[in-house]
Amino acid sequence: MQNIILFGAPGSGKGTQSEFLVKKYGLQHLSTGDLLRKEIASGSELGKEIESLISKGNLVPDHKMIHLIAHHLDSLPKECNGVIFDGFPRTVEQAEALTMLLERKHMTAVMIEIYVDEDEVITRLLERGKTSGRPDDNFLTIKQRLRIYHEVTKPVSGYYLHHHNYFLINGNYSMEDTFEQIDKILSMHGKC
Ligand code: ADP
Repeated sequence: MQNIILFGAPGSGKGTQSEFLVKKYGLQHLSTGDLLRKEIASGSELGKEIESLISKGNLVPDHKMIHLIAHHLDSLPKECNGVIFDGFPRTVEQAEALTMLLERKHMTAVMIEIYVDEDEVITRLLERGKTSGRPDDNFLTIKQRLRIYHEVTKPVSGYYLHHHNYFLINGNYSMEDTFEQIDKILSMHGKC
């Protein structure tokens, strides 16, 4: 069983690489963005609160995110090959909470950071915005998401580097090239 945290700026390709990993290794994909968008679509009070944060490019509070992840970890099938965390943890507090949640289940996770240049990320998100229908894929909100990424989220990679559970890859080129790098890490790590 291998749990993987796919980490990187918005638009770095975490969702795309998750799909490749699901196909090749049968891992469970846990995308917090998708879970939050589902909550918004349900029309609940919580969904409305989340929508106003996401559409401005801001983060959902840690305690709500940690609660959500804890619930999803508990509801995973027993025979699961491992989980891909996509969009979580996004703060150091979330990272500490995830370590504890996994420890309780005698599990760990490795982080794979997909590095993509900022210009490339902005180009990709603007392109995606033409068809995604996502209210946060517009220039001003993308800028705010990137600001938050650098200030609050990027330090999370230091947390995993410190715990020797960290790999960095270059995601500037094709999807296939990026996946090859991820695949190499997983086969060297010997658990997939
Ligand atoms: P992207 O990686 O392209 O920014 P996501 O779909 O992962 O998109 O997330 C969309 C939005 O959902 C984020 O900008 C943020 O507002 C919210 N979100 C997702 N994951 C988290 C999290 N772990 N903590 C707080 N907010 C989150």
